[in-house]
Amino acid sequence: MVPKDCTRCNNNGIVYHRAYSGEYLCRNCFLFSIEDKTKRCVNKYSMLRYQDKVAVAVSGGKDSLSLLYILNKIYGEKNYITIIAITIDEGIPGYRDESLEITKDFCSKIGIENRVLKFGDVFGINMDELLAKRPSEKISSCSFCGTFRRRALDLISESVGASVVATGHNLDDQLQTFLINILSGDVERIGWIYPEPVEYGEKNIRKIKPFVEIYEHELVFYALHRGIPFQAEECPHKNESIRTDIRTILNSLESNHPGIKYNAFNSAIKISKLLKMDTSGSLTKKICSLCGRDSSSSVCSVCKNLMILSGASPYNGQKSDLD
Ligand SMILES: [Zn+2]
Ligand SMILES: [Zn+2]
Repeated sequence: MVPKDCTRCNNNGIVYHRAYSGEYLCRNCFLFSIEDKTKRCVNKYSMLRYQDKVAVAVSGGKDSLSLLYILNKIYGEKNYITIIAITIDEGIPGYRDESLEITKDFCSKIGIENRVLKFGDVFGINMDELLAKRPSEKISSCSFCGTFRRRALDLISESVGASVVATGHNLDDQLQTFLINILSGDVERIGWIYPEPVEYGEKNIRKIKPFVEIYEHELVFYALHRGIPFQAEECPHKNESIRTDIRTILNSLESNHPGIKYNAFNSAIKISKLLKMDTSGSLTKKICSLCGRDSSSSVCSVCKNLMILSGASPYNGQKSDLD
């Protein structure tokens, strides 16, 4: 039977039923629970240090805007860290314009600087032109875009002098990535899922994901009840990849077996920790022979993609579906 009052404070009307814990929560207790989970995750994996300069990657979606809000509320406003919002403009007319506007307005409302970097300024070409030049439709647009977006994020974080880059990846994102790696035989990548930050590049920037222990649908609920505006429209180039199929399967499992995503995520964390320890000793740092940046092979994925686009390198049909 549904109780009348909040399980936690016994005080207020219920707005949310957390099926996996059995709790019925009022608005305040729900909002607090998400902020508290974020803080616990940051502490558990030592994600932040005093006086870090944190670049929060903000796309204008619910995850990234909520992350910006929560990190600012818990750490920024108390001057434990300084925060800057960084946004990548891939040049997708209509779609990106709306999210740039939402991000700009939200940042000015909470008093945080927002820096935008355009694909065109880094690669001399925007996303629509990139897609038009693709040699094969089989190269997923998300995979192409993701590779370039990660490079753009690295460049802008370095240029603002960030010590940390925070992204809004949630539990669902991480669990999907884990399963994609399993299904595609990409075992080496599983170690990368472990949430403890690793310093990388010449500037030793740490990448953190403070929402990895939070369900996607709870972040939607958080943004709505916190009054955070966000772009709900999905990217027009989003391809119906294996990720979408896995997302559907996991959500259907979760509705019949509440908590199953959390259990599966915990298994993924344990496996990724073992694999991370196993591979960290053998990882030799390579430098891309074309752009001079860190790479896992002699030519980095950005340069490989640029070569494919220019026709200098034939598409070998092995581009992974990962984004
Ligand atoms: Zn309550
Ligand atoms: Zn390169």
